[in-house]
Amino acid sequence: MIYEINETHDQNLKSWVESANAPDTDFPIQNLPFCVFEGEEMWNIGIAIGDQILGMTACFENGLFSDHEAEMEAKYANDNADLADLMHHGASQLRKRVSEILRDDVDDATKKLVQRCMVSMSDVDFELPTFIGDYTDFYCSIYHATNVGKLFRPDNPLMPNYKWIPIGYHGRASSIVVSGEDVVRPKGQNHSKEDAPPVYIPSKALDYEMEVGFFVGKGNELGETIDIKDAEEHIFGLCLVNDWSARDIQGWEYQPLGPFLGKSFATTISPFVVTMEALAPFRVPAFERDADDPKPLDYLANEENEKFGGLDIKLEVYIQTEKMRSENIEPFLLSRSNLKDLYWTIGQMLTHHASNGCNLQTGDLMATGTVSGKEDSERGCLLEMTKRGAEPVELPSGETRKFLEDGDEIIMKGFCEREGFRRIGFGRCRGRIVPAN
Ligand code: MN
Repeated sequence: MIYEINETHDQNLKSWVESANAPDTDFPIQNLPFCVFEGEEMWNIGIAIGDQILGMTACFENGLFSDHEAEMEAKYANDNADLADLMHHGASQLRKRVSEILRDDVDDATKKLVQRCMVSMSDVDFELPTFIGDYTDFYCSIYHATNVGKLFRPDNPLMPNYKWIPIGYHGRASSIVVSGEDVVRPKGQNHSKEDAPPVYIPSKALDYEMEVGFFVGKGNELGETIDIKDAEEHIFGLCLVNDWSARDIQGWEYQPLGPFLGKSFATTISPFVVTMEALAPFRVPAFERDADDPKPLDYLANEENEKFGGLDIKLEVYIQTEKMRSENIEPFLLSRSNLKDLYWTIGQMLTHHASNGCNLQTGDLMATGTVSGKEDSERGCLLEMTKRGAEPVELPSGETRKFLEDGDEIIMKGFCEREGFRRIGFGRCRGRIVPAN
């Protein structure tokens, strides 16, 4: 089931929160993403609107969720500062009610109550939106897989399984951090001198990966599978993901069992979860496969997935080095890409993950893999952009980068635009590299 477009998506809706009506805001009234924030010393669930956060506990205490179903959903939201219950039960009624109380035609009494429940986004800290029990990272951009494959196997870049299986590996959940937290340069085994033994040193090839993550809403029982037609009912919403990667550690360790310490030192996510309902206007067909490509096996295929399984989400990666900060040079755009270019849909990733009877649980995070496009300007990591360091990127400060240096900050953005609908965005996913301990 894919959400239908309803009154909460109407592009003509305006909010009495003026900042939510700015044309370039990520958080107009049509978006309403969830987050966990610390306001007045208490962690709480919130909804972003313009440059404000609407606190769910305060709304509930002020009697703003009188509609029965919205009230129930708000209660789930308030048991603890974790989105897990909302992810499990769904937040459609709550979204509808919050849209009503934020509209510019709401009565003055309600508006006054809602104003009391708001804090300025610049005054709050954010936490992870939920406890993440398990984290899985896929490899679903065929352009990324081809570009990276070419560096190692010029004649045969794609592995024979690629067009049959959404490739993935189990990531590390405990080292997922929220946007804004510093990332310590990892140490590990470096075997760059082929005829000498490896050495244990700080990574010399630290990279980012521009990805999108999705949170599991309802899970499945151990031993049960998830039909592709039901896949989206198990997905609550999306966030931005930076899958930091130490290419030197990864290159030495990855055979035969895949990524391990080259990835598990940190993963950064944006604090806002944009719901699948908010994304309804931005659904597009699944990737159009070449005529020679195999059709997905039956358990990974259905008509709805083919017609609407894709998502048109524009992604951008920026860098700002220490020198750029000190010289007041704006963050520099490294690449642009789009989620619609993934070879597999998020529904297919989820269905495949559960296809062996593995139980997915509420709050599990799955990431798409580096999102790259066809063009050179659409490469979602430095490994791909610099061809493994052979072609460094030139920055406006006169510096160059093969890989990340200490003090570099990576800033990721994501947003959706479509004629006839309001632009919505994902906020920022940012992290700065600090020296190894
Ligand atoms: Mn990755």
